[in-house]
Amino acid sequence: MKKLIPIIVNLIPRPWLIRFSLVFMKFLPIIYRGHNVTCPICGGHFRKFMSYGYNVVREQAMCPKCLSLERHRLLWLYLKNRTSFFTARLKVLHVAPEQCFHKRFRMMKNLEYITADLESPLADIKLDIQKTPFQDNEFDVIICNHVLEHVSDDRKAIAEIFRVLKHGGFALLQVPTDYSMETTYEDASVTDPAERERKFRQKDHHRLYGQDYPERLAKAGFTIREENYLMVLSGAERDRFKLPAMEYMYGYYKE
Ligand SMILES: [Zn+2]
Repeated sequence: MKKLIPIIVNLIPRPWLIRFSLVFMKFLPIIYRGHNVTCPICGGHFRKFMSYGYNVVREQAMCPKCLSLERHRLLWLYLKNRTSFFTARLKVLHVAPEQCFHKRFRMMKNLEYITADLESPLADIKLDIQKTPFQDNEFDVIICNHVLEHVSDDRKAIAEIFRVLKHGGFALLQVPTDYSMETTYEDASVTDPAERERKFRQKDHHRLYGQDYPERLAKAGFTIREENYLMVLSGAERDRFKLPAMEYMYGYYKE
């Protein structure tokens, strides 16, 4: 099964993966029932989380009920414990909406919630994040996770996100990162999918971010107000919720 997961993820187009998962997910919570781990998003308790990964399969990664991954559970906890996302009246743009979030966010009465994507059947509007149809200062919150590594000009996309965000608003802009690298590795001459996969971890990635990623956002005008949220949580919490071993988790604010 471990060898099968990357093959399935690579072979089947993303919109079809989403449709298949909607059928399978009805049975998974029964198979995985137990009390060793907790998903903060759906509130489910399980024997363990499912293994999952694109190239390298990770143990205890995916929730069998809402299909959240480690990074989704971290982001949810950040929104819940560090922001007014669940209580304040907010206009939210969610780019490439994750399956575990979009229905929950859509049902929240305090949010004016707009989803966008290049191709997903889940999104309200189709757009390229490098050039959006929105006015300046339109959104209180922009969520755009694991998108910028797919964008050819990520500085343009970051500038666009900053432009449409209101003053006082924040963006969540998580990206896959190699924390062993000080500097982001990018080379526009690498266009072959196999070479991209070898150098940037995935055939449709344009770069591999390093420790300097937050600086790229700071250069666009964003402010980081607090410390890395993952490190604020206790070891017991990180284990119970099976959070990422290492991930920067900041809100990027427009002051
Ligand atoms: Zn869940």
